Amino acid sequence: MATRFEFVLHGSNPAALRAAAEEALDEVDRQEGQLSLFRPGSDLARINASGHHAPVRMAPEVFRLIERALALSHATDGAFDITAGTWMRALGFHAPGEPEPFHEIPTLSSVPGNGIELDPSAFTVRLTRAGVRLDLGAIGKGYALDRAADLLRDAGVSSALLHGGTSTIVAVGTTPSGEPWKVALPTGEAIPLRDESLSVSATWGRTVRSGTTTLGHVIDPRSGTPVEGNRMAALVCASATDSDALSTALLVLGPAGRDAVLRAARSTRSWFA
Ligand code: AMP
Ligand code: MG
Repeated sequence: MATRFEFVLHGSNPAALRAAAEEALDEVDRQEGQLSLFRPGSDLARINASGHHAPVRMAPEVFRLIERALALSHATDGAFDITAGTWMRALGFHAPGEPEPFHEIPTLSSVPGNGIELDPSAFTVRLTRAGVRLDLGAIGKGYALDRAADLLRDAGVSSALLHGGTSTIVAVGTTPSGEPWKVALPTGEAIPLRDESLSVSATWGRTVRSGTTTLGHVIDPRSGTPVEGNRMAALVCASATDSDALSTALLVLGPAGRDAVLRAARSTRSWFA
């Protein structure tokens, strides 16, 4: 995920907190080892390398995350789509310096999740078309934070704030004084959080240059081009996996997609800029 993760924990036993934090950070590393397409040998790297030739067996939890990603893809009419890796690679985000010619990007269908075939009995994933690449960049850090927060809660931590790349934030419980955690959006607005997650997606998060244009890193799968009109979208959910994926969908869809995304998120709180 190539992202910086930071955790703040409160409690009365520093040794226990340190042990819990180390376990949670190790879990983030473990998740990165299976979800990052940049880690050679990760489940994602293996699907992208050979998933078109034969089904690739996943760790069961990675398989379930891909199933969740496909459900979110359907719930957002394809605005969130992990086959966006196909365009990310073609635009040069996966291998900086070596963009492929744009016209060689495979034409994908507008059916969400098309190009991916799952076999739940064998935990295998197959890519049904040549050139399709999966990318969990819009959901993986949220999933890793959910797993880390689970471990902290299991260890008895009742007050913590976790973030991955400052774009997905998980509040465990409240601040030590019992107030909700407060996290500022790029717009300056302070958002109260209590056992919730906030994700922010922005076109300026990562960019590549193509000739004289700057391309943002969130792709509108319906057109295969980087999102331009909307600059930022933010969303609060119970789960960081969902807030991460759905903030990306909200950036793609803009205010017109707010109702559909909030329904999928079971949330009422979203922001645009
Ligand atoms: P985020 O910062 O969470 O909005 O995620 C953006 C990242 O997810 C990008 O850097 C890509 O790796 C990937 N991505 C880009 N567009 C999409 C999309 N429409 N659906 C799913 N993932 C995407
Ligand atoms: Mg996201």
